[in-house]
Amino acid sequence: MQHYPKSIRELIRGLSKLPGVGEKTAERLAIHILRNSLNDAEALAHSIVSVKQKIRLCAKCYGLSDDELCDICRDHSRDETLLCVVEQPADMIALEKSCAFKGLYHILGGSLAPMEGVGPGDLRLRELLERIGPQGVKEVILATGTSVEGEATAAYIAQQLADRNVRVSRIASGVPVGGDLKYIDQMTLKCALDGRHAL
Ligand SMILES: [Zn+2]
Repeated sequence: MQHYPKSIRELIRGLSKLPGVGEKTAERLAIHILRNSLNDAEALAHSIVSVKQKIRLCAKCYGLSDDELCDICRDHSRDETLLCVVEQPADMIALEKSCAFKGLYHILGGSLAPMEGVGPGDLRLRELLERIGPQGVKEVILATGTSVEGEATAAYIAQQLADRNVRVSRIASGVPVGGDLKYIDQMTLKCALDGRHAL
């Protein structure tokens, strides 16, 4: 890397800080940028700066948004009676990619992790409780992860919502689509059996 001029070295150093990009990949990307037109380079630089300047959290669901409310919260064709609770914006995007959910979301901003000092006050739980009631939510789907923290968070929220006039459900966990039973871990198989449904 020391053989490159300083400006290229700086670009390689910057790119190699990206997750999953080692020095070799960073070098290849830098050369690619160098070979592309100035227009392409400016568009890339602009989109990087723009994402930092424009993106904020949606005032309603706390997902990523260009405006005060995100596209999902502004979409009146979505079912406002269904509220899906997830840990992070990326979880919401994953669910959206599945095209399986047409309700609204609430992003907690993490999961309960007492060992790491993350308690209920560090998550957007108060904001969640405030959304139940005035907005006509009939069902809250707890789609936090299936880690110990994710399960604890789901259990805590279920407890908080117990005296509210709202149905509380938990996403199922078990055998992945196309999965071969003999390669699946015991815990997942147990979850799949516990969560079985009648045909
Ligand atoms: Zn939103």
